[in-house]
Amino acid sequence: MKIIESPEEMQSEARALRKTGRRIALVPTMGFLHEGHMSLVRLARSHADLVIVSLFVNPTQFGPTEDFERYPRNRSKDDALCRKEGVNILFCPEAPALYASNASVSVVEEQLSRGLCGASRPGHFRGVCTIVAKLFHLCDPDIAVFGCKDAQQLRIIERMVRDLNFPVRIVRGPIQREPDGLAMSSRNARLSPEERQQALCLRRALDQAEARVAQGEKQAHILVDTMTRIVREESLAQVDYIHIVDEETLEPLQILRGPALAALAVFFGSTRLIDNALLRTQDGG
Ligand code: AMP
Repeated sequence: MKIIESPEEMQSEARALRKTGRRIALVPTMGFLHEGHMSLVRLARSHADLVIVSLFVNPTQFGPTEDFERYPRNRSKDDALCRKEGVNILFCPEAPALYASNASVSVVEEQLSRGLCGASRPGHFRGVCTIVAKLFHLCDPDIAVFGCKDAQQLRIIERMVRDLNFPVRIVRGPIQREPDGLAMSSRNARLSPEERQQALCLRRALDQAEARVAQGEKQAHILVDTMTRIVREESLAQVDYIHIVDEETLEPLQILRGPALAALAVFFGSTRLIDNALLRTQDGG
């Protein structure tokens, strides 16, 4: 496995690889890798000859009061996991090499970013779009794999690729969960044992929403109430948002007519967890 820190070296390496005709897949991550990330690496491998994993805790997608400094990091473990999985290139730049101190150009998505995490985290998706656009320029991938765990991010990146004509195919990776149902996340490591136990309420709330839809419930506010009640039963949980939105436009729904996304963000102390599920009504919606 080749480890590259310099953005310039990454770009010239990608150009050289491209000339050999091999298909390149990119898996962007913020490190502290877990099985969710590794499932994306395997998916990437199944679509390409060569896999690049980027590892960068991107400062521009964190708000001033968010957990950038406290975001978990473990480079040596990340290296070992990537080697074991046969990753070809680990790209791990430092922030000053990637961002000029007077950087003044960024990528802004203006529709899908308005609600959900975009409403709670102003500027977050500007940071995400900008870093992903930069990674696409530096790694020049044919495909890039993103997890459904970050459902809004995934759709925004798909929109960016479409609207800015990036020659990259986005592949969606399904959410990987712990055996008890908690969605895998680097931030889970920051939960106390009690918070970790109570965090199962996210999955329970989504399960209940799915069950109610299977029984024929189509009113979004009833589903949201059901989910909210389940999360509020946990003493350490603070709801950030619980929404049912259109799967494509991410606009809030009153009545489920087509595929919908149930999405929630819940704080346990300063740790913010997100999860989501696709809801399909019985009549094919
Ligand atoms: P992160 O390191 O949290 O920025 O995530 C990097 C990529 O891994 C993103 O595309 C995430 O959606 C994806 N990812 C994170 N957690 C999971 C999970 N539990 N299952 C599937 N993909 C995940």
